[in-house]
Amino acid sequence: MTKNRPLVHFFKLIFIVSILLLFCFPQTTLLQTTSVEYICAGTDYETPVYIIKTNYKEPTIMIVAGTHGNEKAGIKAAEYLKDNLRIERGTLIIIPKANILACEENVRCFPPEINLNRVYPGNPQGNSVEKLSYEIFSLMKKYDIALLVDLHESIEFYRKNPKNYGQTVVIDSSDDYLFKLSSFLVEEMNKSIIEDGNKYQVLGKPVKGSTAYSAHHQLGIPALTFETCRKLPLSFRIEEQIKFVKIILSKWNMLAVQR
Ligand SMILES: [Zn+2]
Repeated sequence: MTKNRPLVHFFKLIFIVSILLLFCFPQTTLLQTTSVEYICAGTDYETPVYIIKTNYKEPTIMIVAGTHGNEKAGIKAAEYLKDNLRIERGTLIIIPKANILACEENVRCFPPEINLNRVYPGNPQGNSVEKLSYEIFSLMKKYDIALLVDLHESIEFYRKNPKNYGQTVVIDSSDDYLFKLSSFLVEEMNKSIIEDGNKYQVLGKPVKGSTAYSAHHQLGIPALTFETCRKLPLSFRIEEQIKFVKIILSKWNMLAVQR
């Protein structure tokens, strides 16, 4: 009996150290890995795609920002999320700067005459923006995407000028599931908006050739576009864009619980 005592002490020690490690570093129990791949690799439009994986593959949510380079809040939010988000379930695909040249030039479209959000599903033999669109479309096809979220901004409130989509969630069809989901998201977002004029609303306005339209109509992926209004302060808009994505991730039980 006495011979085994050191061994018992050894295992006791291992046990106590393990418990202490778990207590001090609970995040070590979350196995989240981020990998980077590139679309349009080797061209001027080369842009990173961040793929955050957990032990549980499903669901996959895709976040696109920077389709229009001067819509900063979505771009900043996507970058913040890829650096700071902790998920414990599912897969998250983030493209912070879809049109990286437009983002670098701080312009809506680059080149100015071609709108990335009108050329989907793109064309591998077409011009550089059509090629870019085709690569993003191919990425959507590669994964089993439960929801695609395209982050945008508008220069004006929709309620002031219906040509602009500021403070809306745009769905590209009359799909009942998308309408219910968007209504829920708008309701959640509006809880913390004090001024009525800044509240969000759901818009059913299909824009042919847009990322969300193409995802939904050509690939059957539920997709929506979130639009903040650039008349509001940038810091507020960034927070709103982050909040919008986080509400979606908690709805799918993907967000890591703070321990
Ligand atoms: Zn836009």
